[in-house]
Order: sequence, then C-alpha cells, then structure tokens
Amino acid sequence: MARRKKIYEGKAKTLYEGPEPGTIVQYFKDDATAFNAEKRDVIEGKGVLNNLLSEYFMMGLNNIGVPTHFLKRLNMREQLVRACEIIPLEVVVRNYAAGSMSKRLGIEEGTQLPRPIIEYYYKDDKLGDPLITEEHIAAFGWASQQDMDDILSLALRVNDFMSGVMFGVGIRLIDFKIEIGRVYDGDFQRLVVADEISPDSCRLWDIETNQKLDKDVFRRDLGSLTDAYSEVARRLGVMPKNAATPIKPTLIN
Ligand code: UDP
Repeated sequence: MARRKKIYEGKAKTLYEGPEPGTIVQYFKDDATAFNAEKRDVIEGKGVLNNLLSEYFMMGLNNIGVPTHFLKRLNMREQLVRACEIIPLEVVVRNYAAGSMSKRLGIEEGTQLPRPIIEYYYKDDKLGDPLITEEHIAAFGWASQQDMDDILSLALRVNDFMSGVMFGVGIRLIDFKIEIGRVYDGDFQRLVVADEISPDSCRLWDIETNQKLDKDVFRRDLGSLTDAYSEVARRLGVMPKNAATPIKPTLIN
C-alpha cells in the first residue's frame, strides 16, 4: 500500500492528503503546547478527545447551516475535511474577560463583557501571533472587506451555537478561537469554519464552580487535562458515563 503524503505537521495535528482531490485527513496528536510552544508535553488520549469533540461541534454547526470544512470522522484520531486555503488570522470571540485580554486591559478574569468582543490575531508562530486590527488586515490584503463581513457573521453564529450547547451542559463559554478557510466551488468561493473547535481552543468553565475544563488546566498546571476534556465529552454525551474510552458522538451513527 502506498504511504500517504504528509502535507503539514502542526503543534497538535498532522495533515495528510485525503483519498480524493480536495480532501485532507486531519490526524489529532496527543501533543500539548502552550505559550507559543515554550511549554510542551504529551498527554495520552488528548487527540482522541479533541477529534471526537471537534466532530461534535463541527457536525452541529453543519446541521444548523454554518458551513465548516468537516466531512466525516474516519477513526478515533482522524477526520476527513475539505481542503481549504486558510486565511492567516486567528479569530477570537470573547464573552467574558480572561487570558491575554484580562492581562492587557486589567479586567478580572470571569468578568462578563457588555457584548461579545471579536479580536483578530495574525497567524505567525515566529511573531507569536500578534493582535492586529482590521486596518492591518485590509492594508496587507489578508482578507477583503467582504471576507471580513462573512468572518464576523460566522464568528458570531459559532459563538451563539457554542454558548448554547455549552450552557445546556452547565458550562460557560468564556472565549474561543476559530480559523477560517476559503473553499472554491467552481467559479465561486466561500468561507467555512476550519481547523478544529475543541477545549484546546476554547475556555470552558463549569457554571456553578468556575472549574476550568479547557487548556488552561495544562497552561496553568491545574490538574489532569484528560480528566477535564473527558468531563466535557461526558456531559455532551460524546463519551458514556464511566467509560474509559470515548465512543462515537450521538450526532452521527
Ligand atoms: N487560543 C488558541 N490558540 C492560540 C491563542 C489563543 O486556541 O494560539 C484560544 C485560547 O484557548 C482562548 C482564546 O483563544 O480560548 C483567547 O486566548 P487569549 O488571547 O486569552 O490567549 P492566551 O491567554 O491563551 O495566551
């Protein structure tokens, strides 16, 4: 059997050429990194949990008409996605102050914001993903004005969906990051939610206790990351009660 072609190896995922043109296989690794990869570890089971959770969120988005690159999950660590051109932005949506925003503006973590705040970071590891404004995006041609309108609309729809889903299982969506891809359908191009949506890219706090159920557990050494992610998966029904291994999400059969 021919060895499949690796397209790209990132910090948490490896991308391989998919079985058909225009498709890609995303392999979720167990590697955890933080602070621009200054802190790193291998956390057994993280890749499996993120694969299942990202599938759950992307399927949900597809089902309510928010386009994503997700096609189907292939196995416990891999999913098939549409190939797309990634716009070099990290789009962050914040509902409560936390992390870099709390530090930058001196707002206590957990303070509810008057409305969702969208921020853009330029995707460049060497530069440490700097915060940018729409002026930079327009001036350097990273996205058009139409793209920016579409990105804002996608980001707010993802926020409403994710906030609602998480609220339903007693979790507060503090903030999250998404990436946006450009796909071509004949002469037309459209934007889709790409990459992954998982506790690696969201801040998730238990509504009653404020316990952190996201990557801050790793960033701040707050305990077991797999326990935290498993708790999110268990609440969403992506993992059955008391099971050691996650099973298929309920959204697909
Ligand atoms: N985030 C991410 N990847 C990054 C930077 C941030 O997924 O490279 C997510 C992070 O998990 C959080 C949100 O984006 O949910 C906002 O992160 P913040 O700007 O507060 O940065 P941090 O404090 O994580 O450095």
